[in-house]
Amino acid sequence: MRDQPNIAVIGAGVIGTTVAKLFQDQLRNANITVIADKYSADTTSDIAAGIFRPGTSFKGPTMEITKKWLKDSWQFWQDILKTPDAEQMGVMPLGSYIFSKENYHVTRNHLMEDLVPIYRPATKEELKMGPEGTKFGSYFSTLKVECERYLPWMGKIIVERGGKMTRGKVDSFASLSNYDLVFNCAGLGARHLCNDHDLVPIRGQVIKVKAPWVKYALYGDYDTYIIPGLNGVVTLGGVRGYDSYNLNYCKYDAAAILERCCEFLPNLKNAEVIAHRVGLRPHRLPVRVEPELIDGLKVVHCYGHGGYGVMTAPGTAINAVELGVNFLRSNVKNKL
Ligand SMILES: Cc1cc2nc3c(=O)[nH]c(=O)nc-3n(C[C@H](O)[C@H](O)[C@H](O)COP(=O)(O)OP(=O)(O)OC[C@H]3O[C@@H](n4cnc5c(N)ncnc54)[C@H](O)[C@@H]3O)c2cc1C
Repeated sequence: MRDQPNIAVIGAGVIGTTVAKLFQDQLRNANITVIADKYSADTTSDIAAGIFRPGTSFKGPTMEITKKWLKDSWQFWQDILKTPDAEQMGVMPLGSYIFSKENYHVTRNHLMEDLVPIYRPATKEELKMGPEGTKFGSYFSTLKVECERYLPWMGKIIVERGGKMTRGKVDSFASLSNYDLVFNCAGLGARHLCNDHDLVPIRGQVIKVKAPWVKYALYGDYDTYIIPGLNGVVTLGGVRGYDSYNLNYCKYDAAAILERCCEFLPNLKNAEVIAHRVGLRPHRLPVRVEPELIDGLKVVHCYGHGGYGVMTAPGTAINAVELGVNFLRSNVKNKL
């Protein structure tokens, strides 16, 4: 291995920036270049509410790996929460409720229950916080990460340590053959780069409103969620359009989201609307974290996090970085 290996990271979303920073933590002498055609505000990561609540469909290659990614991620965010920088980095603790009129099982989450300090059934009194007819509910303690703050914070650290962040589109891995190692953190862009048809967009649309009186995250039936954040900005959602590439705002989706959220909190009707945002979740089962030798170029993939990429970025990045360091030190010349 060279003294100062040249490393490229494709992607400047939550995955790319976390991988780049964690790689620098491991190999201080590496020359890191992040290459992305979109930064911060224009990424999918920036649209996410960023709550730590894995869907039970979130999957690594094995349950053991899935749980390790979640545990490492939780610990990473907890460590940040202990620092005075947490708020500036966009990380905040958050109490959450999930309610259902119909289905007890949606109020349970086997991936969360073992992980977070509190996951318990809602009390009779608390069930009244749900829309009329609510029968089932749980309360859990969790956290939330705002990429609007987290991405610039990580970007600044990467650059302060000598890393470069450049704007550009990578059309093929062959164009990066001068690098010793490439991390592919291109999100949905990996579909084209890797010709990966298992990577599918799941369209999402949210409304950002100003509602500083909302103190808890609330989940309901039919993908309804109300997630408070920093500065009194609350994310209202949502929709899931499988295999949809439509990035246009849909007024019917917005109306349906608002109606469902107002069933929970009627005074949201009067909240000032700050923005409507649409994004495509890069969905893949399982999430792809693995090394691949592509025409002699060492590549580590880290993409396909679906609706859970903000919360699971650290755990998957730790895994990708470990694979990358080993790959860099190895003498592999042929296909893995
Ligand atoms: C409405 C909505 C709500 C969400 N809510 C949550 C939530 O509450 N919690 C949670 O954890 N997750 C949530 N998510 C999911 C989360 O946003 C994604 O999983 C996450 O952002 C994926 O991060 P990423 O870095 O892989 O992708 P992105 O943020 O899309 O970044 C990809 C990067 O790769 C670059 N790129 C792609 N192709 C190329 C190329 N060929 N050349 C150069 N650069 C390239 C892009 O420019 C960009 O910089 C939500 C998503 C949506 C849409």
